[in-house]
Amino acid sequence: MTGRRRRSIILLSGIAVLGLVCVLYSLLQRRQAAAELASAGQTLHRLISQRADQHDAHLTSLSALVQAADPAPIATVEQVAASITRFYPRIVGIDVIDLAATPPASLLDASDPAIVAAEAAQASGASVRTRAIDDGSKLLLVKRALTDGVGHYAIALIVDIARLSASDVALPEGATATLRLASEPPPAGNKASAFSAEIASRTQPLRLDLASTAPRWPVPPLGFLLLAALLTALGGVLIERLLDARSKANDAARKAALAAQDARLAHAGRVNAMGELASGIAHELTQPLTAILSHAQAGQRLVQRPGMEPATLAPALDAIARNAKRAGEILGRLRAWISKSEPDLEIVDLAELAREVAHLLTTGALPDGTSLKVESDGSRPLVRADRVQLEQVVFNLGRNALDAVAEAKSERIVTIAVAMQGAEALLSVADTGPGLSSEAEARLFEPFFTTKPEGLGLGLALCNRLIERFGGTLEGRNAAVGGAVFSFHLPLAAEAIRREAAE
Ligand code: ADP
Repeated sequence: MTGRRRRSIILLSGIAVLGLVCVLYSLLQRRQAAAELASAGQTLHRLISQRADQHDAHLTSLSALVQAADPAPIATVEQVAASITRFYPRIVGIDVIDLAATPPASLLDASDPAIVAAEAAQASGASVRTRAIDDGSKLLLVKRALTDGVGHYAIALIVDIARLSASDVALPEGATATLRLASEPPPAGNKASAFSAEIASRTQPLRLDLASTAPRWPVPPLGFLLLAALLTALGGVLIERLLDARSKANDAARKAALAAQDARLAHAGRVNAMGELASGIAHELTQPLTAILSHAQAGQRLVQRPGMEPATLAPALDAIARNAKRAGEILGRLRAWISKSEPDLEIVDLAELAREVAHLLTTGALPDGTSLKVESDGSRPLVRADRVQLEQVVFNLGRNALDAVAEAKSERIVTIAVAMQGAEALLSVADTGPGLSSEAEARLFEPFFTTKPEGLGLGLALCNRLIERFGGTLEGRNAAVGGAVFSFHLPLAAEAIRREAAE
């Protein structure tokens, strides 16, 4: 997974977690608000129930007072009523109605005698009648005082509903309490009540409702949101770091495994390269060794001739010595090349070098019908190079050309041409062979590319590297007249020295 994708996923998860935290907060707040409302409702319910019991007690004691004498001791009743209303502000009126009068008469002028008489008519025995008056803002409680069993007095108690349901206990924020007669429907437009219970009173059928205006999904406060966002962000960063560290550890483990594999491959490569190198050395040494062998055999034949003049052995011994020296030099230069030591630069006459290499190439007789020529424009192209290494290059190109013409059906000619072109010396080796295949043309200087059954594919790679060392370029192509041409340009010695000085 890319770092960017991982970060996006963590960011989205963080937002989801934050959303979840907000929902949880809302749910908990709702539960807590409901619990607080229920607890406040129960407290208020208990309080109102006690107050309702007090109303019963007042009615009972007033009723007893009214029955104490005939006619009722109204002055005393009035005094008691005044002290009751003073101590209980929710009781806003107390009245005694004479039911025997026609029409029924209010003795304390606190209520509508007709309404009280109507209620008293329905109150049988000691029961209390309760009804709402003044548009439901007050309760009228009526009790019939049963003087001499006839009961021609009725006691009326007028209670303010708002004060009846008022409490010192603070309701939760946004909560409202409504007290109504149980038989009445809840006021229209009221919020669904969160708490509803009938007041525990046998005489006053009242119902208490508590509703809340608090939002259904409370939004967490800004501080909480910021804290939650901060914690989520910290969590996200932590997770990101952990995942990052884990993926880095995985990467490191993978790299270590790859490095171990690389080391194994490099070792295998080195072992392989050593094998190839040994073959390369053998390749380079074959020519001088073959020449030494053939000259030694020629010498042996000469020695066996009767009357042999020792002087006749001289050329063979010369050739043996020259080739042995060359083999030694090849080994030395190969070692120098492998160890990347500096070449042994000197001024070399390219035309002379070409003739010497041609001589080396023709030392063992050439196959029948094969000719090798050296052409020169008569100039003396002096270059700065390591003589033996440059010889190796020309020798390799000439050897390849001779190999190529061996396959030719008609003419088998190899031409080494030397010329001067401006500030450069040019040497080319042309042959009348089959030319380069398109694959060979593309991969000429690739080490180990060969089309020969016994080939190593190291010759041209080595030549290319050596020519580059001397500041030149080597190229191989097919000639228009057929066959292949390999050529290289080298800066003339003066130019080479000037370039070296500039560097
Ligand atoms: P090797 O001679 O061991 O194959 P080289 O690097 O010298 O290695 O040559 C690589 C290949 O280039 C040869 O196998 C051959 O296919 C091609 N090549 C080189 N010189 C010539 C040439 N003069 N004519 C045709 N093909 C050539």
